[in-house]
Amino acid sequence: MSPMPFKTLIEPFRIHAVEPLKMTTPVERRRAVQAAGYNLFALRSEDVLIDLLTDSGTGAMSRDQWASIQHGDESYAGSPSWFRFLESVQDLFPFRHVIPTHQGRAAERILFTALTGPGQSVPSNTHFDTTRANVEFTGAEAVDLLIPEGHDPTAQHPFKGNMDVDALDRFLAAHTGSVPVVFVTITNNSGGGQPVSLANLRAVRKVCDHHGVPLFLDACRFAENAWLIHEREPGQQDREVRDIVRDMASLVDGMTMSAKKDGMANIGGWLALNDDKLAEQCRNLLILTEGFPTYGGLAGRDLEAIAQGLQEVVQHDYLRYRIRSTGYLGDALVKLGIPIVQPAGGHAVYIDARALLPHIPPLQYPGQALAVALYEAGGIRSCEIGTVMFGRHPDGSEHPAELDLVRLAIPRRTYTQSHIDYVIEVCGKVLAQAGELPGYKIVDEPPVLRHFTARFEPLPFQ
Ligand SMILES: *Cc1c(COP(=O)(O)O)cnc(C)c1O
Repeated sequence: MSPMPFKTLIEPFRIHAVEPLKMTTPVERRRAVQAAGYNLFALRSEDVLIDLLTDSGTGAMSRDQWASIQHGDESYAGSPSWFRFLESVQDLFPFRHVIPTHQGRAAERILFTALTGPGQSVPSNTHFDTTRANVEFTGAEAVDLLIPEGHDPTAQHPFKGNMDVDALDRFLAAHTGSVPVVFVTITNNSGGGQPVSLANLRAVRKVCDHHGVPLFLDACRFAENAWLIHEREPGQQDREVRDIVRDMASLVDGMTMSAKKDGMANIGGWLALNDDKLAEQCRNLLILTEGFPTYGGLAGRDLEAIAQGLQEVVQHDYLRYRIRSTGYLGDALVKLGIPIVQPAGGHAVYIDARALLPHIPPLQYPGQALAVALYEAGGIRSCEIGTVMFGRHPDGSEHPAELDLVRLAIPRRTYTQSHIDYVIEVCGKVLAQAGELPGYKIVDEPPVLRHFTARFEPLPFQ
């Protein structure tokens, strides 16, 4: 229950430093996006009015985080900033070994280099794109085993990020000896920012124990996941989010983390685990590419900002506002008649572009078409999560992704309600023109993670 008796939920902070936004005209935006090859990653961010490309590292730090930066101690080894970071991480995730990295994918790269190789498989509820790429880069296979409701954008289920436990059990039985680790992503970013329940995590743990396979969390949005457990899972309503986070940690053998998400920092990450031998292997890899084990790829001041961010991210006032403000955007889009993944995710609202633009076939990238239209109409930058991101396979073939979504990711503590009201208005305008939007073709793409750098051209309208 909110301690406030009023309907209006306000941002639980006031503004301490401001960043100007540059207004642009539709003509300027059309020119900019054309020059960017219709890839929103290639825009100059100054040409973006409301940047919902990602919530990764784009949030506003607090006064106390900026103050902690002044305490940054840049000693090469064993600095006080490292110990503050370690204590703060272990307070929530009491793993024996904590290995700082410059961001989440570095933790993934190190772990999968140590653990996986050709002929092996890593099951997950849903792998995030960097996780999948890092698994596949070692020659192993990344397998998604999400509950059926998680595949249906309109299905109402409180924990659509849950793993399909029976499918996992069958998979592990059929792949004895070739699964070095099972992953659970909280919240499920690629599947609509949907949470995983404690009950599901317990059931996954049981199956992993039965087959003798370790279980790790991709814990990027652990606090949002814990808040959704606090709100939705029977018996959790009176519990502290901190304790729910500790429960999640107690059910797994380790974690990878991007501090650019629920670390509330602009950079950073870590790998944490209990296995001494594996930790030693990972530290050796860390030294090769990231740095000495007490700083990873980070400056002492970054470690301080994360340590402070972890104190703030589990505060109930913050999380209530965070989750409700994302839901506010989702509710408004539903009211306009825009199909979204239901319910709204913790950090983002995902528009079902394939449903909104049925005249554009998946291999003409309806998600890209919608993302470009939102930019041209109102300067909003979003992110395609669909066939552009997932359609190209390691064998070179191209297939439609399961869904063609456009993610409106909300940076933490950055935009106010009036910014979001503007986003809603722009979405309404694009909805009115939806039938006239063109599909796209790719004219240039790299061999992996093509969505970051591919170039597109609009197709003639059919
Ligand atoms: C962002 C993210 C990552 C990768 O983290 P980076 O800090 O961007 O390298 C991994 N998994 C999930 C679920 C993410 O959202």
